[in-house]
This record gives sequence, structure tokens and C-alpha cells, in this order.
Amino acid sequence: MSTASVIGAGPAGLIAAEVLARAGVTVTVYERMPSVARKFLLAGHGGLNITHSEDRDRVLARYGSSADRLAPMLGVFGPQDVRDWCAGLGEQTFVGSSGRVFPRSFRATPLVRAWLSRLTELGVTIEKRHRWTGWTDGGLAFTGADGAAIEVAGDVAIFALGGASWPRLGADGGWVGPFCDRGVAVTPLRPANVGVRVEWTDRFADRFEGTPLKQVGLTVRGQPGQPARGDAMVTRTGLEGGPVYAIGVPIRDALDADGRCVLEVDLRPELTVEQLTDRLQHRRPKDSGSNWLRRSIGLDPVAIALLWESSGGGMPKDAAVTAALVKAVPVAVTATMPIARAISTAGGIAWSEVDESLMLRRLPGTFVAGEMLDWEAPTGGYLLQASFSTGVVAAQGALAWLQRDPAR
Ligand SMILES: Cc1cc2nc3c(=O)[nH]c(=O)nc-3n(C[C@H](O)[C@H](O)[C@H](O)COP(=O)(O)OP(=O)(O)OC[C@H]3O[C@@H](n4cnc5c(N)ncnc54)[C@H](O)[C@@H]3O)c2cc1C
Repeated sequence: MSTASVIGAGPAGLIAAEVLARAGVTVTVYERMPSVARKFLLAGHGGLNITHSEDRDRVLARYGSSADRLAPMLGVFGPQDVRDWCAGLGEQTFVGSSGRVFPRSFRATPLVRAWLSRLTELGVTIEKRHRWTGWTDGGLAFTGADGAAIEVAGDVAIFALGGASWPRLGADGGWVGPFCDRGVAVTPLRPANVGVRVEWTDRFADRFEGTPLKQVGLTVRGQPGQPARGDAMVTRTGLEGGPVYAIGVPIRDALDADGRCVLEVDLRPELTVEQLTDRLQHRRPKDSGSNWLRRSIGLDPVAIALLWESSGGGMPKDAAVTAALVKAVPVAVTATMPIARAISTAGGIAWSEVDESLMLRRLPGTFVAGEMLDWEAPTGGYLLQASFSTGVVAAQGALAWLQRDPAR
């Protein structure tokens, strides 16, 4: 019987283990942490978008420059397959108003529990507290719980070691060195789906830290594209939340190019400048600036304070000038937050290093899956979707490799 090593027990590794075990391969999963799928479980604390219900082309567009490479993989295991798989584990899914797909329980815990039972029934062994450290002449090198060096040989290996965000959950990007040493090209790991740093005045930060700027539109000045809509959260040191993450790539591009980036915040995206101007013209003589903005165009205190903040306290009085400012409040971003605070990782093993079955061209019989590959996507279920899809494809590739390898 063939044997396979899967290294990394996140969603990509565990789905690969399941596919291999179903095909009769003896599978051992190696995981450095004392328990599996910690990031997946954490994702469950925030509602868990397991995939997205958009049509195929829209889903693919979310992967930007990796869409072409991921398209066939989403064809092999796409959003409906993820939903069927959840249902098979006793967890029905539903589509939320945003089109995101959630498990009924909104959590990952029931899924992971049922999944681990299934893997046990399929005969998968999970070795926890095994940290992969590199290759030896005979196979894979691990450090065990007691610090002992362990060498493992097998017919195939699938690596699913994740990116480098939230390193305390296990994925710390420590794999980059050993892979580079073997000549594998790795695009530098960078934070994705991450907040940005803004130097607020103390007055603004003291009062509005933790307050959402509700239903705003965000764009990067000078970069074309649809505004990202949603709630952006003011933090002590910047801004975070869905719309900030959604324009993460243009923010990074602008910071790379100029070392600075100006976000334009549209405080009333559903109204045009003309409509705002019209409403702002009706100012009562006794109205303070705040009252005027609140009553005429419905701005809440944090939005009004952002206008003050951006104009250095010297708010315009003219209706048309104010309307234009409300549509594009400039906010200077000085950096993104560090990768340890990012939801996901951009960069990873370059697509040129793997064939269509996700086998490393330089290391035949070695496959890679999940976030350690060089793709990125916004939040909303696309990250887990691609992790599952690439895990399944890598496992199918490993099966095909086992069947054709005469030496096994
Ligand atoms: C707060 C948060 C919320 C999220 N919410 C969502 C969401 O709602 N929807 C969504 O689609 N995505 C979400 N994500 C992203 C999603 O969880 C990841 O994209 C996904 O877990 C990546 O899967 P993976 O298997 O590639 O890597 P990981 O889940 O990171 O798994 C990699 C595994 O490899 C192990 N490992 C690493 N190095 C070694 C080593 N040297 N030896 C042995 N084992 C090792 C790690 O311990 C880990 O268990 C969220 C992420 C975070 C942080």
C-alpha cells in the first residue's frame, strides 16, 4: 500500500488527507501544534464564511492575477462541492444577504469535530507536535514534542503549511527558508486582508477608537476602480474592516510606489455630489457646523469628526465644497499593519514552480496546497475556498503520481 505524508493540519492539509485516504493510501498528517486547524477554528469565531455564492466568473475575479491558475482547481472542487462536503459532515450551509456562505452553526468547531472523526474512520494518523524542519537524504525531517529529531520517508508528500499571519496559531512562514534552499522560488510573504496605519490626532483616537464608519465607500487616490463599500472600523492607530481589506492590493501598490497612500472615504456613497450640495444649501442661521452636517445629510459624530480631522479643523462652509469633501475625505495611510495581525498572506511559492497538479517541478512527488502558494483574495469565503480546492487538487495529483511511479 502507498504511503503519503501531509505536513500541516489546516483546511488544505486535512482535505488532502481525506482525498488520499479515501483512495486507500496510508496517510500520516504532521502538525507542529498540539491541536489541528487552529486558524480555521479561529475563523469560526467571526462567523466563518466557508465559501461564496457568486457566479463562477465573479468568484474567480477575486483571485486577481491567480485567477487563471485557480480556475481549473475551482472546477475540480468549487463552492457547491464545499457546501456538499459540509452537509456530508452534518453541517448544512446557507447564503447570507451578502452572498457569503455560512455553516448553520456559524462556527467551525462542529465541522472540525465531525471531520476528525471521519479522518479517524478512514485510518488517517495525525501526529501533533511534529515540526517539519527540512529535508534529509532519506526523506522529511521533523522535531518532535521532546525535541527529538525524527526522519520520515514516504512515497509522496503534500505540504500545506499556510502563510505567516497569526503565527501563534501555527503557520509562521518558517518553511520559506528550507524551500528556498532547495531552489524553489518564493514570492515574499506579505500581509493581506490587513488594517492600515493612520496617524490620528489623540483627540480623534481617544473619542472614536472602536467606532465604525458605517457604510462608507473607500478608494485609493489615483487608482481607478469601484469603491469598496461597508463598515470601516476606527482603531487607535488606523482603520480596519472589510472595505479596507478589499482594497488591500492597491493600498500596497501605492505604498510600494510612493511610501505613502491616500485613501478617499466617501461618507455618503449612495448620494451624488449634486444631491449632497442641494441638501447642504439649507442651513439654518443658528446651526453649528456639526448640526448642519447631521441634519442636512445625516452624518453621525464619527463621520463629522473625520471631516474635521482631515481638514485640520478648518471646515469649509460652502455647500458645494463641503459636498465634494464628504464624497472624498482624504485619509493619509503610512503603512499596513504587520503580517502577524493580517487575516491572510500574499506571496508564497511561485506558480511557475508547480505544475497543474500542484507538484513542485524541482521536487517530483512533492505537492503544495493552500495559503503557502502565491495567491491572495479578499475575505468572504474565498480564502477557505481556494485552500480546499488546492488541497483536493494536490491530493489528486499525488494519487496520479503514485499510480504512475514504477518505484513505489
Ligand atoms: C481571524 C481570521 C479569520 C478568518 N476568517 C475566514 C473566513 O471567514 N473565511 C475564509 O475563507 N477564510 C478566513 N480566514 C483565512 C483562512 O482561515 C485561511 O486562509 C486558511 O486557514 C488557510 O488554510 P491552510 O490550510 O492553507 O493554512 P493554515 O490554516 O494556516 O494551516 C497550516 C497548518 O500548518 C501547520 N504548520 C506550519 N508550519 C509547520 C511546520 N513547520 N511543521 C508542521 N506543521 C506546520 C500550522 O500549525 C497549521 O496548522 C481567516 C483567518 C483568520 C486569521
